[in-house]
Amino acid sequence: MNNLVQEVLREYDMLRDKSLKEALSRREEVYRKIPQISQIDDKIKEIGIEISKAIFLNPQNQKEFLENLRHKLIYLKKEKAGLLKLNGYPETYMEQEYECNICKDTGFVNNKRCRCFEQKLINLYYKQSSIEEITKIENFDNFDYHLYSDKPYKGKMSPRENIKSIVEVAKDFIDYFDVEKESLFFYGDSGLGKTFLSHCVAKELLDKGKVVLYRTAPDLVEGLRLNKLNSDNDSYYEYTDLLRECDLLIIDDLGTEPITPFSLQEIFSIVNARLLANKKFIISTNLPLSEVMNIYPERLCSRILGNFKLLNFYGDDIRIKRKTIN
Ligand SMILES: [Zn+2]
Repeated sequence: MNNLVQEVLREYDMLRDKSLKEALSRREEVYRKIPQISQIDDKIKEIGIEISKAIFLNPQNQKEFLENLRHKLIYLKKEKAGLLKLNGYPETYMEQEYECNICKDTGFVNNKRCRCFEQKLINLYYKQSSIEEITKIENFDNFDYHLYSDKPYKGKMSPRENIKSIVEVAKDFIDYFDVEKESLFFYGDSGLGKTFLSHCVAKELLDKGKVVLYRTAPDLVEGLRLNKLNSDNDSYYEYTDLLRECDLLIIDDLGTEPITPFSLQEIFSIVNARLLANKKFIISTNLPLSEVMNIYPERLCSRILGNFKLLNFYGDDIRIKRKTIN
């Protein structure tokens, strides 16, 4: 794990290095085109030095003196912004741009890890960078209702009406992510877009700066098993910490993992710990609800029934249609 932490720290170094270089080259460009700004920057620097001197030397009229310098500084900055604008540049053009504005790509805020740190760690740890790749394709812009039949289905509303109402619930889940308590439970046959929809939600939340972890149930259980076997106990705790602390945990294909006392216990303890901490899930399964109730212990089922919105996907497999359309 320590290696991964170091890898993340190196990534921040590189990010800051890159953005600093870019800012410096933008500055050179501006100085070339608008030499006046270079003079203003020199004056700003001089005032900075005068301010430090005045604080250090503590002259009699220090307060007035500092106030006077502060006004000059404000005036110069305004002048600079005005000149940039006049020449068609945004006012912030010369400033350093960060990937994360919360921690300015340092990874830390008040000595605590920033959320972007956790996400980077998760991406490395679970080799998950693919979720960002996948969500470039699997997102709401590419959600196609026409793949779902508009004919009533086995006495129920049409699969298209049904999926529309599920998408509404999913969008509310995103909009009220920090307020609402309920998680989402997708169930229904395979090939009805459950994974696709969970990726759509993941993308929106990643864009909002949330930490999202996606695992299929077999990968989740296998990862826990390997980490527990590992003699180095720290890695098991790091692994479970990330599972417990991410903002959204997506567990896909519940029921396809080997069902053992170990897997049942581990899944229960993750679900329980996260619910107690008000953390959200999307869990999906191809099993009918009755089967879920059969396989999993009552204490897990009651947590799911009590804390998840149950959403039933039904209709004909849309993957076949998607293939013929593509
Ligand atoms: Zn950050």
